[in-house]
Amino acid sequence: MSVKKSKTSILDLLAKGTRMNAASHGSGVQELLRSGLSCANCREPITDEFVIGEPMLVAPGKYDVFFHKNRPECRKASGEKIAYVPLCTNCKTPAYQSFTRETLSALLRSSAVKFHCTQCDNSWPATVEDVANLSRLLKD
Ligand SMILES: [Zn+2]
Ligand SMILES: [Zn+2]
Repeated sequence: MSVKKSKTSILDLLAKGTRMNAASHGSGVQELLRSGLSCANCREPITDEFVIGEPMLVAPGKYDVFFHKNRPECRKASGEKIAYVPLCTNCKTPAYQSFTRETLSALLRSSAVKFHCTQCDNSWPATVEDVANLSRLLKD
């Protein structure tokens, strides 16, 4: 018995090249991707690169944070801030962070990047990998 999936699964999408992109937005992104990858602005599926932006209300009680990176209008809708989603070191849930460009570059310069989880009130310093990812997002 073989049941063919008609819909492209998130894992398929990730395999097609969004995996690296996802990793560069933080370890918690993999968790968020389980709930689906559609653009918060135009509501169409994202099959190539994405950016994470300000959470946008897409349905009552439901927020999406993914936006098409390669569509100017979607990118614009994602806002000015740089968002990053590490996995909380304590409760292991995605912990959404956002920084202005100025704040982030100052924090990176002084190696003082810290994350905070609103779920469990945990704070922890960025890892070397986080710092590399954030520097890349800042240049983007
Ligand atoms: Zn879009
Ligand atoms: Zn936590």
